[in-house]
Amino acid sequence: QEDVFKKLVAHCKEYGFVFQSSEVYDGLGAVYDYGQNGVELKNNIKKYWWDSMVLLHENVVGLDSAIFMHPTTWKASGHVDAFNDPLIDNKDSKKRYRADVLIEDLIQKFEEKINKEVTKAKKRFGDSFDEKQFLETNPRVLANQEKINTVHGRFAKALNDNDLEELRQIIIDYEIACPISGTKNWTDVRQFNLMFSTEMGSTADGAQKIYLRPETAQGIFVNYLNVQKTGRMKLPFGIAQIGKAFRNEIVARQFIFRMREFEQMEMQFFVRPGEEMKWFEYWKEARMKWHKAMGMGDEKYRFHDHDKLAHYANAATDVEFKMPFGFKEVEGIHSRTDFDLSQHQEYSGKKIQYFDPELNKSYVPYVIETSIGVDRMFLSIMAGAYNEEEVEGKGGKKETRVVLNLPPVLAPVKLAVMPLVKKDGLPEKARAIIDDLKFDFNCQYDEKDSIGKRYRRQDAIGTPYCVTVDHQSLEDDTVTIRYRDTMEQERVKIAELHGIIAKKVSM
Ligand code: ATP
Repeated sequence: QEDVFKKLVAHCKEYGFVFQSSEVYDGLGAVYDYGQNGVELKNNIKKYWWDSMVLLHENVVGLDSAIFMHPTTWKASGHVDAFNDPLIDNKDSKKRYRADVLIEDLIQKFEEKINKEVTKAKKRFGDSFDEKQFLETNPRVLANQEKINTVHGRFAKALNDNDLEELRQIIIDYEIACPISGTKNWTDVRQFNLMFSTEMGSTADGAQKIYLRPETAQGIFVNYLNVQKTGRMKLPFGIAQIGKAFRNEIVARQFIFRMREFEQMEMQFFVRPGEEMKWFEYWKEARMKWHKAMGMGDEKYRFHDHDKLAHYANAATDVEFKMPFGFKEVEGIHSRTDFDLSQHQEYSGKKIQYFDPELNKSYVPYVIETSIGVDRMFLSIMAGAYNEEEVEGKGGKKETRVVLNLPPVLAPVKLAVMPLVKKDGLPEKARAIIDDLKFDFNCQYDEKDSIGKRYRRQDAIGTPYCVTVDHQSLEDDTVTIRYRDTMEQERVKIAELHGIIAKKVSM
């Protein structure tokens, strides 16, 4: 699995999806740039989200608020005082870790051990294997399950009590990430604030310390009244936003999974107090449906309900995706009560309320939030789409085809148009097809190398359709269309191309 992940990272670079930021200077930690194909995929993800949120919901509208916000925003939101990660250093390896991530990894290792036992037993017992019974009775499984329960329980309690010493103790007790077995050489756990700060204005003017927003949500909360009043919005309604967020992550790893500069797609849905659970369930289901509609396979998604809730939340769940390194959060769905709006009301001294004509009274609305990282979504899509297949090559020889089975709606290039040879008017015919289609679809012209090589190149970036122009095309205005997933080819009229492609690549 690690191997698959390495290949995926290499593929992202080789095919112009993701580059390390400032690579000529050996890169900047956990900051990445999106290349020519990456930016198209990313834009398509954002559009797919935006359209499904803002266009398909009459009562959801958009917003684009600034990255810089008044510094009091972050006092009110709690980020100045409580947006911390628990850090710990191993004195032997001189490596720094996030204590909570170490413990989560440990739990995952136990889970992997159980999975391995199951796989082994399945092989051994074949059809007569009863997984349920095996999980309930196998001593090795039970021992690992016991460990998971114990660590989980201690971990949840330590987080709840903010007990940093207990976090350290769990790490010591299970000898996590120890370079030498048995070392207990860990520093204390300390809290580290994740917000980046900078100064606005010159010092002579009295410069003000401001932050780069660590989430887009607060831009929505402070604009709640502006949007509600000017849009004459009635509860329930939502505000959606896509934008950059910044977090000084300590353990920045796993490629674009955890970055220091990333992008979020958030939606805050304002509801009548007491109705939040109904809407929490609504959005939970709606968001899962959206993910599954991508066609990556339903079994790759699951919910992870939080047993430990932030003090302001009364329900929270994550949508997790099966990455090459295990099930990981891609989206959070939270019921945030009236915490944020009330805080801004208190810190600003201004009333932030809704007059409910049906109830004939004013109140601070409750909020359901859906929050997804564009980059993490990008990674999940790439991981789900990346496939290596054995196919028959020249002369019946087996070869490997690397293909991105991207959902057509997200593919960076929808259609590659290829003249069979670079003469006899075929390039001109191919370009004429592109001129006809390029306003509606991202098309690519490719005339270099053999047709087979050109197909492979398009497979590797996930292009769902390749169109080949040959001599017959000049006579009867037909072309060969080749489908990425099946590699099947058929002869179609040039005039039909638009319809064929549109059917698959629109939402
Ligand atoms: P994690 O526990 O992984 O740090 P989180 O629970 O802090 O994430 P939220 O604050 O709920 O995350 O942010 C919502 C979404 O933003 C996450 O589900 C994730 O997709 C994305 N996200 C958060 N932090 C990062 C990051 N450092 N890099 C990339 N995406 C991120």
